[in-house]
Amino acid sequence: MALIVQKFGGSSVANAERVMHVAETITDTYKAGNDVVVVVSAQGDTTDDLIDKANEINPKASKREMDMLLTAGEQISIALLAMAIEKIGCPVISLLGWQAGFETNNAYGAARIKTVRTERLRAELDKRKIVIVAGFQGLNAAQDMTTLGRGGSDTSAVALAAALHADLCQIYTDVTGVYTADPRKIKNATKLTDITYDEMLELATLGAQVLNNRSVEMAKKYNVEVEVLSSMVKEPGTIVREVAKMEKMLIRGVTKDTDVARISVVGMKDVPGNAFKLFSSLAAKGINIDVILQSVGRDGTKDISFTCAKGNAEQVCALLENLFSNEGATVACDTSIAKVSIVGAGMQSHAGTASKMFGALYEAGINISMISTSEITVSVLIPKEYADKAVAAVHQAFFG
Ligand code: ASP
Ligand code: MG
Repeated sequence: MALIVQKFGGSSVANAERVMHVAETITDTYKAGNDVVVVVSAQGDTTDDLIDKANEINPKASKREMDMLLTAGEQISIALLAMAIEKIGCPVISLLGWQAGFETNNAYGAARIKTVRTERLRAELDKRKIVIVAGFQGLNAAQDMTTLGRGGSDTSAVALAAALHADLCQIYTDVTGVYTADPRKIKNATKLTDITYDEMLELATLGAQVLNNRSVEMAKKYNVEVEVLSSMVKEPGTIVREVAKMEKMLIRGVTKDTDVARISVVGMKDVPGNAFKLFSSLAAKGINIDVILQSVGRDGTKDISFTCAKGNAEQVCALLENLFSNEGATVACDTSIAKVSIVGAGMQSHAGTASKMFGALYEAGINISMISTSEITVSVLIPKEYADKAVAAVHQAFFG
């Protein structure tokens, strides 16, 4: 007998039929003798719909009230799923995040989990109940409900698995695992049997929308083995785990991210401290930046370009104009770009991985405007309209 945490995303519980289907997956696991804790997201587009409702009334609503609203989505899905399991005839109880012991900090809309107090969960499991927990939510020290940020239910599931020392954390979704590229776009994309935390983290950060990246960080930190699998198709998924007996592969996947803006500050003074001034001002606002490029100084001036999420672009430009316009620099923003990346721990021990990627792009006639690398990734910025073509060309070069 094992303790298994299963998480089902919004599309897996979108309507009554799917809720019943999920209930069967859960009760099958339970009837096989396992203890089962389930984390579920709000049905379908519920969270988006709730955000729309809020915007109709007050687009500047406080984050506290937004969280009060958004936590309602998961309250609906846990109750419906519990009812479906009652119908099948298994003992079950649904719990909101706070009832399941999720304690978070105060950051409404992007709260971090501090601890999961498992007493209640343990007590329900001891009664041999299936426990259904609302994902994406917790309670702060002021006893107010918080949410963990969009897609946060994955993190709830991994946190529960860590707190309960579960044997396995299964994330059920609408794909059958992690692929070498988006299988809806690339025909010969193949499913990976397993992938390391670091590789998965890079893939999640670089645009593969399989797992929320904070959930992967947490899985790595607490060494939780995570399986990504389909809620519709019964077949083994992809296991995310520490580097163990992995299949040998040079790279694991190719991704694209179109949520990228390139900001350029042109003609800033070529003096010490300007890069610090620029990036510390963004860090102070909690804005994440990515690929950075600084030109060689010329005539006493230099340029710095970097990328950030499109949603931050306006704020970033305003901030930098304030900081640098008095020294004659101009700030430009380009949102017509995409970032295409390859990820794989294998490239650490293989020369020529980056050049293979650049060669594939050259043959496809795609111009690269910026490049960045880490130990296990190579990313390029290219015109957005070529993103799919670039992924296909690079995938072909590595996976044939
Ligand atoms: N319902 C929340 C969202 O749509 C949390 C989740 O789906 O993981 O972002
Ligand atoms: Mg959702």
